[in-house]
Amino acid sequence: MFKEFKEFIARGNVLDMAIGIIMGSAFTAIVTSMVDDILMPIISGLTAGIDYQDIVVSVGGASLKVGNFINAVISFLIIAFVMFLIVKGLNSLHKEEAKEEVTEKECPYCKSSIPVEASRCPHCTSKLDNYNNVNE
Ligand SMILES: [Zn+2]
Repeated sequence: MFKEFKEFIARGNVLDMAIGIIMGSAFTAIVTSMVDDILMPIISGLTAGIDYQDIVVSVGGASLKVGNFINAVISFLIIAFVMFLIVKGLNSLHKEEAKEEVTEKECPYCKSSIPVEASRCPHCTSKLDNYNNVNE
């Protein structure tokens, strides 16, 4: 049981996931603070002092904190947009990696990596007639 748990924790993606969750909650706290403490006061200032954060609508004795809800929606939109930018950036990085030209091949005799154009292996001196070489 304990050994199984140790193996579970030792797997890389569990740690990656934990780091992601911790980074995510820290980032969410920053965005929430930015919306509540910086963005909303600016909007209030621009709209003649209407404090959106304190908007409370009373419906039949129940008070709906509409301002808080609006703040949460704006925070979510900012977080979603930043996540979109991060994923977009990672995707373009992956594409560039895939585009990288193939400059090396593996010698079929000694398995060392050699230039694609080579007709003779520099390591084991085997002649590579037509092996992986269309130009020859
Ligand atoms: Zn070789």
